[in-house]
Amino acid sequence: MLLHQFFKLRTIARNSQSPFSSLSISLSSSSPMAAAAASSEDSLRKALADKQSAVDAQGNAVRALKAASAAKPDIDAAIAALNALKLEKSSIERSLQSILSVADTRESFRHAVTNTLERRFFYIPTAKIYGGVAGLYDYGPPGCDVKLNVLSFWRKHFVREEQMLEMDCPCVTPEEVLKASGHVEKFTDLMVKDTKTNNCFRADHLLKDYCNEKLQKDLTLSPEKVAELKNVLALLDDFSPEELGAKIKEYGITAPDTQNPLSDPYPFNLMFQTKIGPSGLQTGYLRPETAQGIFVNFRDLYYCNGNKLPFAAAQVGQAFRNEIAPRQGLLRVREFTLAEIEHFVDPEDKSHPKFAEVADLEFLMFPREEQVSGQSAKRIRLGEAVSKGIVNNETLGYFIGRVYLFLTRLGIDKDRLRFRQHLANEMAHYAADCWDAEIECSYGWIECVGIADRSAYDLRAHSEKSKVALVAQEKFLEPKEVEKLVITPSKKEIGLAFKGEQKKVLEALEAMREKEALDMKAALESKGEVEFEVCQLKKTVTINKKMVTIQKEKKIEHQRVFTPSVIEPSFGIGRIIYCLYEHSFYMRPSKAGDEELRVFRFPALVAPIKCTVFPLVQNQTFEAVSKLISKSLTAADVSHKVDITGTSIGKRYARTDELGVPFAITVDSESSVTIRERDSKDQVRVDVEKAASVVKELTEGQSTWADVWSNFPHHSSAAAED
Ligand code: AMP
Repeated sequence: MLLHQFFKLRTIARNSQSPFSSLSISLSSSSPMAAAAASSEDSLRKALADKQSAVDAQGNAVRALKAASAAKPDIDAAIAALNALKLEKSSIERSLQSILSVADTRESFRHAVTNTLERRFFYIPTAKIYGGVAGLYDYGPPGCDVKLNVLSFWRKHFVREEQMLEMDCPCVTPEEVLKASGHVEKFTDLMVKDTKTNNCFRADHLLKDYCNEKLQKDLTLSPEKVAELKNVLALLDDFSPEELGAKIKEYGITAPDTQNPLSDPYPFNLMFQTKIGPSGLQTGYLRPETAQGIFVNFRDLYYCNGNKLPFAAAQVGQAFRNEIAPRQGLLRVREFTLAEIEHFVDPEDKSHPKFAEVADLEFLMFPREEQVSGQSAKRIRLGEAVSKGIVNNETLGYFIGRVYLFLTRLGIDKDRLRFRQHLANEMAHYAADCWDAEIECSYGWIECVGIADRSAYDLRAHSEKSKVALVAQEKFLEPKEVEKLVITPSKKEIGLAFKGEQKKVLEALEAMREKEALDMKAALESKGEVEFEVCQLKKTVTINKKMVTIQKEKKIEHQRVFTPSVIEPSFGIGRIIYCLYEHSFYMRPSKAGDEELRVFRFPALVAPIKCTVFPLVQNQTFEAVSKLISKSLTAADVSHKVDITGTSIGKRYARTDELGVPFAITVDSESSVTIRERDSKDQVRVDVEKAASVVKELTEGQSTWADVWSNFPHHSSAAAED
């Protein structure tokens, strides 16, 4: 979490609401089941506290009877009542524990998923043979295929649909760019150090872990304490560094491994610094996001778009963040793929011509008010969210809707997807509104896409620093008279003074913002000359009175010049893919019932390969037919794999199910083959010549399995397996 209010905050799993974890469900949870679990947790905690009071009172009564040397039958009856109460208390404790132990289920589920992913080489820790490095992972062959599929769908769904302009900028970014954007100063997370070993921790993570653990393990918490801890979890991202430090002290949180005291939280910059060139004189950074490459090229992009607004530019590429203590596998890494869109729009008109196409979508939204008042996320129609002002404007709403469609079409479960609005402090001060698409997985709710209306902040920052006007123009139908600050550089004087550099000096003077120009005017009037930084020349030049006139004038304007606002959907591709893995994973018993088989139910769009081809047994005829089908599949551009091993067909199916391959063609004759669908395990019989085209249509969505089932001879489930 970045706690500087000036800067955009980054969040992950900001609370631990999860169907796996009832303890946090009441903060937000979506499903009725989760809400019921949360309310039963609350009522069980209350019942436990009441029962504890009853046990205490009965214990006192027994002691009083004994002290008063009461009759033995009376004492025995009181003891029996006490024991009965204790039994009731243990039973409530067990019920509560079983609700809270969902965390264990969550962990064993995650273990099954990640174990399958690593075993089938979807990903692996970088340089594993050397022990790996925290926060760095390699994608193996199926992982690469899934990523490629997600990115090509992203391009289709966003870039092509909106005719966006795509950019590809280097990962190494000069320092000036990241100084102007604010990253050099403020791209920080709050860190605490073990005061004895100097081990580093993320301050908010320690506080979050403390609250979660207390809620999960301490059955004796009072209802007030439970509410307080849940409130801390809900508002964690809103805490100032001081508030965070104070809570860490108040709860007595120490270093997790040594229990040593911790330092106060302090900001740690997450950027990897480097030197550009052998002299070591020019500082650069590995980019922490791809957006800046688009902002600095705004002028050319605008020109490329025929000097018209609105338009969007997009970039996919690697981003680097030196995370303090990466954990949660692929979710928090030090290098990851970002896919970012910068949609430039007139700040005075943020309507969107295609908003009507998404206005009727209804999904889980978690507005700021609901979070602060401890309510849950709720289903809201997008059109209503925009018309009621819950979402700031139509363009932002349009992208929220498009992101919803993108994620659900990839295979994200719509009931475990919500759009959470940033809290007041969490949002950068210049931003008009921000929403995160959060996906629930075994780690809790994870921010996977940030969708922010960043107003004109980025373009202004780069205009100011670079002295290149990153602006748009709107031509008036009728000329208008306006009073304006007019900056008129003298081309002659500037030409004489700066010769080959005159163009850049002229541009920088003309790009001055009002305040800077007025300061220059005052300085020229009092001192006759002034030092002026020209970013494009990387130096300061001296401007004198003769070189520029600055004055307010009434002018006839033919156009309005303004800095566009930017609406930025920013996709963490690795996080989306990991959540997709969890949402697609399930286990089912083998035919003999002696094994749990693992399956990824990827939609064909995402599946690493679309189809496998198996000769039923090893013989030349079946292998020749398999080759023929493989040739047709290649010609039809269907990714596939031929498996000619002699392993049993059931085992071969199981192997491809683990990779999420949706269809398998089994060659069991010269004239026809079976096509098996992964999840139902049902099979249809198709002529050899038709097999490739049937699979192509299925994987490209031109037909469904139900269509194929009704058009071809078929038989239900698993009969041929094993
Ligand atoms: P941000 O610029 O912080 O809003 O991040 C944009 C997106 O990048 C987030 O929505 C995440 O999906 C993703 N992201 C941010 N940090 C990481 C990280 N350390 N590892 C993986 N993905 C990340």
